[in-house]
Amino acid sequence: MRISSHFLDFFIPVRCITCSSPLQTHQLPVCPVCLNTIEKVDPKEAENHLEQINSSQIPIHSVYTHWYFDHAGTLQNLHQYLKYGNRPSYGIALGTLMGHGLKAYYPSSVPELLIPIPLHRRRLLQRGYNQSTLLAKGIAEVIEGSLIEDVLVRKRSTRSQTGLTHEERQQNVAAAFSTKKPERITKKHILLIDDVMTTGATILSAAKALHEAGAGPINVATLAFTRR
Ligand SMILES: [Zn+2]
Repeated sequence: MRISSHFLDFFIPVRCITCSSPLQTHQLPVCPVCLNTIEKVDPKEAENHLEQINSSQIPIHSVYTHWYFDHAGTLQNLHQYLKYGNRPSYGIALGTLMGHGLKAYYPSSVPELLIPIPLHRRRLLQRGYNQSTLLAKGIAEVIEGSLIEDVLVRKRSTRSQTGLTHEERQQNVAAAFSTKKPERITKKHILLIDDVMTTGATILSAAKALHEAGAGPINVATLAFTRR
């Protein structure tokens, strides 16, 4: 009998996807040694980057990003599993790691509301889950914030950002978000969560919608930051 590769997809990897050493736990398909080799981001660098492209001066209180995106490396493989490989549990495990990083980054004032960047409804139906919501759930296991999914809304399905210039990306996501029930976020301390920050245009567009709806300080947290 031939076992289809689709069937094999249901098995949890027992070896690290990077170095093939046997795994002790199955929360993530990467061993602790390989996980530790992914380069950490200096929060100041991510903050400066977003500041530079923030031409409409949307107030961003702070930016935390966990790792540099490593093309063809461990993080890119993990991200592929998370985004296209139907592995929602990896999102929660990665969010937990982010949560510990955030806890160290905000020792005193932890944001009250965790708001993931939403997917358009059509894309959510295709994928079955929003990877940013899973990261937010993992973060919420470590820091005491409430997950809010029904205030920020993606108005239209933006085309893929891949291959677009910086200006094209900004146009692509401009006014892509709106808000509902703005009273729920009035003056609240927000943590806006996304998986990968590339230009930051999506994050700024979402932050603008939250700011215009009356949110308090907006902080940004992403799993990865693409180095230019
Ligand atoms: Zn490994």
